[in-house]
Amino acid sequence: MSDLADMAQGKIEMHAAASLGHRQPEGPKATGACLWCAEPLPPGTRWCGAECRDGWEREKRLREIARGGQ
Ligand SMILES: [Zn+2]
Repeated sequence: MSDLADMAQGKIEMHAAASLGHRQPEGPKATGACLWCAEPLPPGTRWCGAECRDGWEREKRLREIARGGQ
């Protein structure tokens, strides 16, 4: 049992380290285009503005709810 607990703990720590390394809590990578309206963007930019980011975040939240999250 303790082995399983250790493995789980290791996984959690790896995950925490990964998210600390990248300051992008939302997860998606910049693709060179707006993630919401596909407008071409400079490298490292994920949305062309707050409206697109809000739309994207709203859809993400709806998808999480549909998947059974809260
Ligand atoms: Zn956009």
